[in-house]
Amino acid sequence: MTKPWYKKGLRFACTECGECCTGQPGYVWISQEEIEGMAETLNISVPEFIQHYTREVDGELSLKEFPRTYDCIFLRDRKCLVYKARPKQCRTFPFWPENVESKEAWEKCAKRCEGINHEHAPIIPLSEIKKNLEEM
Ligand code: SF4
Ligand code: SF4
Repeated sequence: MTKPWYKKGLRFACTECGECCTGQPGYVWISQEEIEGMAETLNISVPEFIQHYTREVDGELSLKEFPRTYDCIFLRDRKCLVYKARPKQCRTFPFWPENVESKEAWEKCAKRCEGINHEHAPIIPLSEIKKNLEEM
């Protein structure tokens, strides 16, 4: 099989700038396990978590976002309130299939995500990139 264009790895380290948690409408899809983890982090029950922080879209649960800013419900002062328990979708960013499908897609993503190609960031090896992609 031919190796992907990013076979030598990609430079990235999250600066926790919060930019990927705001600015445009979107969905953060969450599993039951993730809901339980976030509820535990916030020290509330699962039903409370679902009622206050989620919305149902086409039969699936997504985190709520603020209507005008499109900030994720958990973004405060550019920081994630549930960072340690953040959902897989957040943990694996920016290594999503659509962001690594081409060099151009990666560079486009870099325009929003300052951690991509950051001068102090390490090179994330192919094996780790693949692991993230497989989680999605
Ligand atoms: S859960 Fe946290 S990391 Fe994920 S979008 Fe919301 S604020 Fe960002
Ligand atoms: S935009 Fe990039 S650097 Fe900023 S919080 Fe998101 S992943 Fe991290």
